[in-house]
Amino acid sequence: MANRYWCGECSFKTPWLDTSEGLRRQIEHYARKHPGIAPGGQIETRRRGPGARSACLLLAAAALVLLTVVATWRR
Ligand SMILES: [Zn+2]
Repeated sequence: MANRYWCGECSFKTPWLDTSEGLRRQIEHYARKHPGIAPGGQIETRRRGPGARSACLLLAAAALVLLTVVATWRR
């Protein structure tokens, strides 16, 4: 089961993630894009679906790129 967190302030949404990881991403997004606003928005839950594996791989690759960018940006 995975959760996807949707930002309440803009069109941002996290990839499908575990609850704790998704929450962390959502909080990080708010800290970066909406400082001073309490994290909100919606949580979308998915148990499983067709093509989920390839989508997850794609998202994992995107997440890796994103993490690299964030790590570079934070220096
Ligand atoms: Zn946002």
